[in-house]
Order: sequence, then structure tokens, then C-alpha cells
Amino acid sequence: MVSSLYSLAIHKVGQYVGCASLETVNPPFDEQTLKLIASEAFPKDEEHVKLLTDLVSNGNTSTSISSEWHKGESFYQKGHVQNIRQVGFMIGASVKSSYDQHHAIAKVVLTFERYRITSTKCSICKDMIWCSHVVAVILKRIRSPGKVPVHAPLTDTLLTLTREQLQKLLQYAINQSPGDILCQIFEHIDKIKNPRSLISRIQGYPDPTLGIGEDEQNTDQLLLKKIRKNLDHDLLYTDDFESKLQNNSLSDQVQFMASDNLTLKEKNLKTAISLLRIKDVDMAGRILIQIAQALFEGMFLYRSAKALFEGPRLAPSSMLYRLDVERWFSLFVSSFKGQIRHDILTVALDMNKRSCNADGSVSKKFIFEDRQTTMRSVSLKTAGNFNSRDYLGENKNAPFYEPVLACLLENTPENLENLYCQKVPLSQSPYEESLDVMLFRFEKLIQIDQFMKDPSVKTKTCLLGAVILRKLIKLSSKVKGFYFNGALIFILMVK
Ligand SMILES: [Zn+2]
Repeated sequence: MVSSLYSLAIHKVGQYVGCASLETVNPPFDEQTLKLIASEAFPKDEEHVKLLTDLVSNGNTSTSISSEWHKGESFYQKGHVQNIRQVGFMIGASVKSSYDQHHAIAKVVLTFERYRITSTKCSICKDMIWCSHVVAVILKRIRSPGKVPVHAPLTDTLLTLTREQLQKLLQYAINQSPGDILCQIFEHIDKIKNPRSLISRIQGYPDPTLGIGEDEQNTDQLLLKKIRKNLDHDLLYTDDFESKLQNNSLSDQVQFMASDNLTLKEKNLKTAISLLRIKDVDMAGRILIQIAQALFEGMFLYRSAKALFEGPRLAPSSMLYRLDVERWFSLFVSSFKGQIRHDILTVALDMNKRSCNADGSVSKKFIFEDRQTTMRSVSLKTAGNFNSRDYLGENKNAPFYEPVLACLLENTPENLENLYCQKVPLSQSPYEESLDVMLFRFEKLIQIDQFMKDPSVKTKTCLLGAVILRKLIKLSSKVKGFYFNGALIFILMVK
């Protein structure tokens, strides 16, 4: 089936153009077009919504049957979502709450644009961003779109009505529940009639079905705040900050991603990685930033208070977690572009500088004691030929130095590119870089590129893997002991 240019355009506009831009289009879209764009703009990926819901659900139990996601799914399946209606970029519905003793009806209103939920409101769960009722409504809209009547935004719908019809509309609405809206309506009538009131001096009228207000925080922003609050709380009040050495190094990533038995901070990291894999790069980056900042502030505040009793250094598990987060910063910086990359780098530099004492030395708490080190990955030592010293005022011995190097790393050198596209056979390839850089490129292929639907990634992994093995075999004549562990290679240098 061939789609018309019109429907293709509608699809793309729904996906990429926000309400603020739609409002300023001149000449404006007609009612029917706006209605179709609004239909297209609703999120389509359940997995994405689930990831974010689980992140801030009470109890943080993604597998428990009582999680908000599972309760919401059960409401949807039992047909508890009623009176659902989409007006422009807003959806309203009632959800029968069977978990509630009184079988209360939750009134849910949510707004969305560009495949993202931008605000949620539930009459029962006032403090939650994603509650089971909100989830139920989202699922209904995603799974049964044909059962949700769609209208153009309020402004555009009202424009099509005659004066007589408007009068009818208003009086019917008031007649249906005078107690709710009569006073409000007359308050507004008084203001509209008063030429000096703010309402009458402002041109136009607010339309909640066409995007949230400029000064309102959207769901993503609220979510990030909540994540940060949870993490800060976790670091301050729970002991698992340093309790057990979690086996979550990048080499065990498959196990890590499959595990449901994670601490809060690990769970946040897992969600960030999952979001990256379904290509919500921006939100993944924002969560990584929250994790790193919470961890870092925690290290300073909590540790400095306890340092008197427990010595100046961080526990191994915190140090290792920090190394994992730092590595993800590096992989992120070398893989993506745009504002979020810039923000990640800014945070990395800030933390790198702040972990130094006034005299420029690195604060002791961030340095591993001898024999405490567990190597996660071979960290970057160089960024090719670039002399990185003092480039941005960074300290190469302090935490979060690696992302700075990763940002300076050349994309894919020509010789490697030739090898990848098999212009030059492996046996004759002159491609050469230091081992740390090769391993970094390899890890990027495994951790990020393979999830970006690059069809050549398997070939690349095999070829680069072969080059690395060749290099290691050469090195083995100079180094006394070494062994392989899956994709990650530990080298024990014996002096
Ligand atoms: Zn609710």
C-alpha cells in the first residue's frame, strides 16, 4: 500500500512538531488536519512508558504484581477505562479503581505531543506522576485507538460552531452540573465584561488541548526531579550505598540488564541504558546526569560527615559504581551529538574539577587504595595524538576524566573504516591504535552501536575483535600473565 504524501506528512509532523510550533503556523491548519496530527502525536511505544513508570513507582518493584504498571494493565484489561475522549493533544477518561475499597472513580487527564506524555493528572493520586490509572488510560489509547473518539483542539472546534450552537453548548454544560462550573463561568463573565481586567486586555484565549503552558514543568522534568530526590534519599538513608560489592561491571552487562534484584541506584542506571537502547537518547542522558550528580553530591556530603569515623575513602562498591557511570558518560559522549552530549560533558568536567583539593591534588576519597582496584574496563589513557593536558582545565588523575578524552577521540580513523568496509583485508590492514582506544571502540560497538540498528555492526565487531586479539597475542610476549574474560580483557601487568 502506498501512503499519500499528505498522510506521510501528518505522520512526521505528529512525531516531530510540538504544539508551540503548530500554533504559530501561518496560515493555520484546518480542523481536520489538526485532528489527524493530534491522533498521530500520541506515544506509541508501551515499553518506553513502562520504563519511566517503573522508575518512579512506589516501592520500585518492577516485577511485583502490585507495581503501578501491572495495576494499570489490569484496569485496562478489565475494561475499567470509561468515557475516554481525546480533544486535540489532551485525553480525559474515568478509571474505576478496583484496588480502592470504595471502588472510587479516578478522573484522569493527560496531555502529550511528539510521542511523549507532557502532563498527567489523576483525581485520586495527586502526588504521583505515573499512577495505575494514568497507565490504564495510556494503554487504552495505545492498544485500542479505534475506541477513542478524537476531536480537533478546543479552539478549532469552537470556531466551527455558530453563535446559537455556542449558547446551547454553554447552557447544556452548566445544566449538567451547575454546582461545578456555574460560579466559575460567572466569575469569567464578570472579568470579560470589565475592559480593565487582565482577561479582556490579553488577546486570544488559553487552550489546554494544545500543549502545556510555557511556565509549566513537563512530565519528563518532574520525573527527573523525582529520580534525583529518590537517589539523594537512597544515598543518605540506606546502607546499600556501600553494603555489597555488586557484580554489575560492564563485562557482566547482560546479567545486569536481566537482573531484577537491583539496588535503587543500579535500577536507575539500568533504565538509562534501556532508554538508550530504545533510542530515547535525551532522557537516557538526563538520567545519567542525575545519577552522577546524586552520587557525587552524596560522596561529598554524606562521606564528609562520616569520614571522621570511617576513614577518608569510599567503599569499593561506590567506587565501582562510579567507574561504571563514568564509562557510560564516555560511551555516551563518543556516540551521540547535540545539546545532551554537551550537557553530559559539562557535568563530567565539573565533577572532575570539583574532586580536586585547593592545591590541585585529587581528593583522597576518590582514589583506590592499593589492591582495592577491580578493573571494570581498561580506561582510556589517550585520545589519539591529541595533547589533552589542560585543554579544558581537567585533571587526568581525577574522576570523570575519561569522558573528556572520549570527546576528543577521533570518530573512526580511515584505516579502521577501510577495514570495516573490507576495502583492505584483515591480514594487510595497517590499522593501529593503542589498546585502550581499541577496547573502547569495541565496547561502544557492543554497548551502543548494536542497538542502533546498524546492520554492519556484527561484521565490525568481528573485525575489530580480531585486530584486538592479534594485538594481545603480540603483547603477550612482553607481558607475563594475562587472561580473557568474555568480551572484556583484563591484563595484569607485572612489573
Ligand atoms: Zn491515579
